[in-house]
Amino acid sequence: MIEDLPTTRTEQTAQRQRQALLEYHAILENAWVGIAFSRDRKILRCNPRFSEIFGWPHGELTGQAGSVLYTSAEAYAEIGQIAGPILSLGGVFETETEMRRKDGSTFLAQIHAKAINTADTSAGTIWICEDITKRKNNEASMRRLLLEQRAILENASVGILFTSDGVIMHCNPRMEEMFNWEPGTLAGHRASIFFTSAEDYAGFGAAAQPALTSNQLLDLEWSNIRKDGTSIWCRHLAKSIDLDDGKLSTVWITEDITERKATEEALHRAHDELELRVRERTAELDELNQRLRDEIGERQQAEDRMRHMANHDALTGLPNRRLLNDRLSQAMALAHRGKHKLAVLFIDLDRFKTINDSLGHAGGDLLLQEVAARLAGTLREGDTVARLGGDEFVIVLPDLDTADDAGHVAHKLVEAFAPPFLIKDVEIHATPSIGIAIYPNDGKDIATLTRNADAAMYHAKDMGRNNHQFFSEQMNVMASKRFALESNLHGALERNELLVYYQPQINIETRQLCGFEALLRWQHPEQGLVAPGHFIPLAEETHLIIPIGEWVLHEVCRQNVAWQRAGYPVLPIAVNLSPTQFRQRDLVEIIERALAGSGMAASCLKLEITEGTLMEMTELTLDTLSRLSALGVGLSIDDFGVGYSSLNYLKRFPVDQLKIDQSFVREIATDPDDAAIVTAIIGLAKSLKLGVVAEGIETEQQLAFVAQAGCHEAQGFFFSQPISATDAELRFLKLCS
Ligand code: C2E
Ligand code: MG
Ligand code: MG
Repeated sequence: MIEDLPTTRTEQTAQRQRQALLEYHAILENAWVGIAFSRDRKILRCNPRFSEIFGWPHGELTGQAGSVLYTSAEAYAEIGQIAGPILSLGGVFETETEMRRKDGSTFLAQIHAKAINTADTSAGTIWICEDITKRKNNEASMRRLLLEQRAILENASVGILFTSDGVIMHCNPRMEEMFNWEPGTLAGHRASIFFTSAEDYAGFGAAAQPALTSNQLLDLEWSNIRKDGTSIWCRHLAKSIDLDDGKLSTVWITEDITERKATEEALHRAHDELELRVRERTAELDELNQRLRDEIGERQQAEDRMRHMANHDALTGLPNRRLLNDRLSQAMALAHRGKHKLAVLFIDLDRFKTINDSLGHAGGDLLLQEVAARLAGTLREGDTVARLGGDEFVIVLPDLDTADDAGHVAHKLVEAFAPPFLIKDVEIHATPSIGIAIYPNDGKDIATLTRNADAAMYHAKDMGRNNHQFFSEQMNVMASKRFALESNLHGALERNELLVYYQPQINIETRQLCGFEALLRWQHPEQGLVAPGHFIPLAEETHLIIPIGEWVLHEVCRQNVAWQRAGYPVLPIAVNLSPTQFRQRDLVEIIERALAGSGMAASCLKLEITEGTLMEMTELTLDTLSRLSALGVGLSIDDFGVGYSSLNYLKRFPVDQLKIDQSFVREIATDPDDAAIVTAIIGLAKSLKLGVVAEGIETEQQLAFVAQAGCHEAQGFFFSQPISATDAELRFLKLCS
């Protein structure tokens, strides 16, 4: 603005007035509120903002009646009535009222009015007007918001509380109710009143701190206390709020979860209990399961054992007859299909009875086990060796090209038995007799094949034992004879078919008859004279040997007395006693009866028992032997050397004589071992002051050998076969008299 320099005072005054006018004009033009001057109820002038507020083009309001600004004539009149007195007194009229724009729309206006000249109110009024619609709206919504928030606070079902630096600023009624505080009494307390102890409060603070300081939402469950000290489980949701006052302000939303906790705990407990039960039950089931498994296992084992037992021999563990039959029928089917041969070998141990008697039962069992092992060890995989019982073994060779192959195997088996068996530190010589039957030639079914192998085995025995024989039809004839014999034996005694033969015993030095051995014979109606080897074993098994043996005793006593009465020299007769006979408790009485019944002197009776019998049940044996000896009956040990005699017992027992077994005598001239054994037995007898008889003397040479070795007596075919009583009388007794 360019200011002209004043020239006169008036001019200066006029210039100052112009200047003021300009300034007022500028103020009016730029004011942010509407300003208008009125006089006589008309608008004299207004600034652009006033026109703008009322929606009039600027300038058009000038000269308009004041009523155009009001919503109605009444409203205008009312304002006039209220404002008039105030203005006329020079006061400021202030109101908020609804006003009207040119287009008829209304708005809320705040009005300040004052007389321009309080001394002369007719000079007009200045009206300052502001459109406060927006502000009013804002205020209303703010108020509503506050009301709403208070409603929320008052009615919330959760507790809401504000703290500032640990002091409760305010809270809602629910919060107080929850913690048992009277309405309006919580504010001002420290928040620590909710905690049981300072430590508890510190613990809570430590748990809450991280979330609150990092402006995160805290969500924490805690056991707090009420005013009355009872505890309450709460879930606290909290957030720090910045109120720009430099304090840590926090809003807390707290929920009473006591019930939920109780439910949860109950649930937990129920769950724990359930888990415990489940664990217990599981353990029980596990145990039951284990027990079941054990039981099944045991049952399985028992079944396996049963199956094994059903199919195997308990003593040797070898397959038994059942399994043998199974294998044999399978092997036969295969052989039939493959058009090859198979062999069944029937094996019986020679003189097993004697060996068994001498070793005792347990020793016999051990020997059978060793034999089983030796048999199995000699065979190839695929061959079957089974035990039928006793000393009977059967071997199946399932795949043969020729029958000769079976012969080779049998030969190998015989060889396998050559080394002695060591049983209880004693060397035992056991030999096998083997019968062989070939499929399909010797039988097409199990029964025929085994029967024929059995027959062949008997033949091997007849052929001097310790060898093998192939089956031939001829053997069947013999076997059936044997069978018939066995079934006839029962009635033999009643039918008077038994008779006693006598074999002379010769004093080697004098070459004089010195006694007889009584040897049983069976005069079979069809088979003729049968030797005891064919029926004594059966008689033993069936215990028929008891009545038969007693009959022999009586018969021998009767005969001897008859010979003596006839004037022949008084000689002892030896009677064989089998183990079963010797085991009879009333043996001594039977003998006494036989002696008394016949009137024969006890010294005329000699009893032959085998080594086995002697060694068995030593105490009873000793007792029986002592009583027999006391009677005056002679005692002789038969087949001496085959079994095993303890020298100690020999010394203790009242024995009179040893009979050297004929198997040693047989080879005496050719086998240095046998010669040595015979010499040793004679030496032993001498040193024990016992008589000694050599059995089975068949040749001059044999006789010469035993004579030279110092043997007292001899018996054998060289002198005579066993002969009938009549022949004995004619050929021997008569010569003595
Ligand atoms: P043992 O008591 O050893 O009888 C001797 C056997 O040898 C008799 O056979 C006899 O005939 C036979 N013998 C005799 N001298 C010779 C010989 O020079 N060469 C050959 N090779 N053999 C000869 P036997 O009569 O067949 O009797 C066999 C066995 O039967 C007897 O053997 C005996 O243990 C038993 N025995 C015989 N009679 C009876 C009896 O009445 N009761 C009992 N329990 N057993 C009897
Ligand atoms: Mg004898
Ligand atoms: Mg003998």
